[in-house]
Amino acid sequence: MLSLDMNHFNLNSDLAQNLDQQDPLRQYREKFHHPLQANGEPHIYLCGNSLGLQPKSTADHIQQELADWKKLGVEGHFHAKNPWLPYHEFLTEAMAKVVGAKPEEVVVMNTLSVNLHLMMISFYRPTASRHKIMIESDAFPSDRYAAASQIKMHGFDPNESLILLKPREGEVCLRPVDITDRIVAEGDSLALVMLGNTNYYTGQYFDMKAISTAGHAVGAKVGFDCAHGAGNVDLQLHNTGCDFAVWCNYKYLNSGPGGLGGAFVHERHLTNPDIARLEGWWGHNKKTRFLMRDDFEPIPTAEAWQLSNPPILAMGAVWSSLKIFDDVGMDALRKKADHLTGYLEYLVNTLGKDKVNIITPSDISQRGSQLSIQVNNADKALFDAITEAGVIADWREPDVIRVAPTALYNSYTDVYRFYTILKTALEAQLI
Ligand SMILES: *Cc1c(COP(=O)(O)O)cnc(C)c1O
Repeated sequence: MLSLDMNHFNLNSDLAQNLDQQDPLRQYREKFHHPLQANGEPHIYLCGNSLGLQPKSTADHIQQELADWKKLGVEGHFHAKNPWLPYHEFLTEAMAKVVGAKPEEVVVMNTLSVNLHLMMISFYRPTASRHKIMIESDAFPSDRYAAASQIKMHGFDPNESLILLKPREGEVCLRPVDITDRIVAEGDSLALVMLGNTNYYTGQYFDMKAISTAGHAVGAKVGFDCAHGAGNVDLQLHNTGCDFAVWCNYKYLNSGPGGLGGAFVHERHLTNPDIARLEGWWGHNKKTRFLMRDDFEPIPTAEAWQLSNPPILAMGAVWSSLKIFDDVGMDALRKKADHLTGYLEYLVNTLGKDKVNIITPSDISQRGSQLSIQVNNADKALFDAITEAGVIADWREPDVIRVAPTALYNSYTDVYRFYTILKTALEAQLI
């Protein structure tokens, strides 16, 4: 048995093969469709942080619902093999395990930006003195638009009420202590702290518990956008104590382009009768939903935030992927992921700091699977060269390549091949 210790890495290609043979999750690679290059070889797909690959089981899940719709029409709500009326409930337990929540705290619904707005409607309740939202200066644009528009909707000015956390001069990542210090400094003007976790650009993972504790200590609410965290890191949302979280399921959670998102509401808010919320019939008490009574009676779970009856075909895709996660479990997944990303980090660092700099934290408690590699003197031609050689990754202007080997379908050989392709491209660049 080869050691899984990070210190045992070396530059031999044999090592990648050996690690693949000993990988306890190796059979999961075959459960996914791998896009092929023109030469028939699979791409080296390192873009699961952008759009996860399609599980081979997804087609069957969607086909089942198409067949039941064809056969049963509206009766499928009750008599489909997986009845549509409670369909979202079939996903809840597995989803809760992935994000570390109690089942009543999570719901699969809508898409991420929609869920972020629904959560801010409930948890951003500004007053004349407490009206600020804290986000990262390099937050995903949609998150920034969402926060700024909520501020405007309440009659405040984003120039005053939107606080952008910036890394220190000359640094790319935020220092954890600077986040909590800023929360203390803003004090009772702070209504909401809402950070991306994991940061989409740097791959930095923030300590959600420390941030939640600091936010709550000054009387603010705390929420996280876990688009790059869900299915990647072990979020343990319940234990962080945060008020809410939202995520999409199409990145690490492989549920297809534009697939449904998820939301978490901490249990302490679930039975609060006074909570502000946009309401729709799917959030109403299931027993009396179809009596169409006048008064809204919220389900005492995160389901109360559902507005509409959900798209079953899209739910089927999420369900097929969640079954794989349920099978593997986040512990085993993180164990491989840390090791695989550690191997990538080791290989990339041998290329020399004069050529490449990994801007993602080297501390594994501050990152997930993604490494963001800043390439000195690079332009897009370098990225085009590695793409031409079969790599699917992500380029961010001016000079960052984001790669995310995923534990479920990437191999150590993928990582090694990426390294040799990058090395070759960098050498060609010098000529
Ligand atoms: C991917 C991503 C989104 C995308 O939002 P959608 O509503 O799913 O289009 C939003 N925020 C972050 C941080 C993301 O990484």
